[in-house]
Amino acid sequence: MGKIDSLLLAACCLICCLSCQQTAIERNEPGKPYILATTGMVADMVQHITGDSAIVEALMRPGVDPHLYKASQGDLRKILDADYLFYNGLHLEGKLASILEKQARVKPVVAVGDGLKRLIKINETTYDPHIWFDVSLWKAATANAARQLVALDSANAAYYQANAHRYMEALDSLDIWVQARINTIPPAKRVLITAHDAFSYFGRAYGVEVRGLQGISTVSEFGLRDVSSLVDYIMAQGIPAVFVESSVSDRSLKAVLTGVRQRGGTVRIGGDLFSDAMGAEGTVEGTYIGMVKHNVNTIVVALTEK
Ligand SMILES: [Zn+2]
Repeated sequence: MGKIDSLLLAACCLICCLSCQQTAIERNEPGKPYILATTGMVADMVQHITGDSAIVEALMRPGVDPHLYKASQGDLRKILDADYLFYNGLHLEGKLASILEKQARVKPVVAVGDGLKRLIKINETTYDPHIWFDVSLWKAATANAARQLVALDSANAAYYQANAHRYMEALDSLDIWVQARINTIPPAKRVLITAHDAFSYFGRAYGVEVRGLQGISTVSEFGLRDVSSLVDYIMAQGIPAVFVESSVSDRSLKAVLTGVRQRGGTVRIGGDLFSDAMGAEGTVEGTYIGMVKHNVNTIVVALTEK
């Protein structure tokens, strides 16, 4: 551990002792590792594998955009407290990734998407990080996370393997369900327009044409030319609905809606999709499976309405 890291850790322990004794006790149940995951999707995956043998927490709350996320002092304390860190990887977490990678010198840090690079390369250096929208890719990421957890906590190996197996079976069923639901949309209407390009894998896996106004990261801003080319596309194809994302501002899509109306067309907001963050904790949409079902049902209803 470097000198600065040690100082940070010491300062952090002091702050914890003085101000957050309660949280520290909750996180440190004897015999159970405290696992910090970046997104809700990764936390949900890890929780399914570890069951009641670990304390799992998501760093990013519902509605938070991981591309733009910056760690607060409180986050740094959690990162230092964690026994293991799990993240999506593939550049989803933006600036946070370098903090996590530094922590890999002192504790296990796992990027669940790393083993998938072979399957998802866009070009030599770019990967699309939104692997959770192709359920079969998320299943592969789950298998990767399970392998790592089994290696890290071998006393619970059989339990973790059984849990992972059960969860991956549920993901298989979900994958089949998604395809069956999408197949109910008339083929010409299988077009998904969103604020940013989170749904490419979804489109590729289930046969949906996908257009985003911003690129695969929300870091890049959209321009007037992007808006007008999307307006052209909507007018030419007669697209009935576009979709808002819970973790991205709807400002960009409103510009598209205005553009279509100015040209005498009609397009509406088809509903809210959870793209890079899940729904509220304790709700069905606050789980990965519930989030996927919510999105698919929203898309199917909006694109099949007369
Ligand atoms: Zn995104």
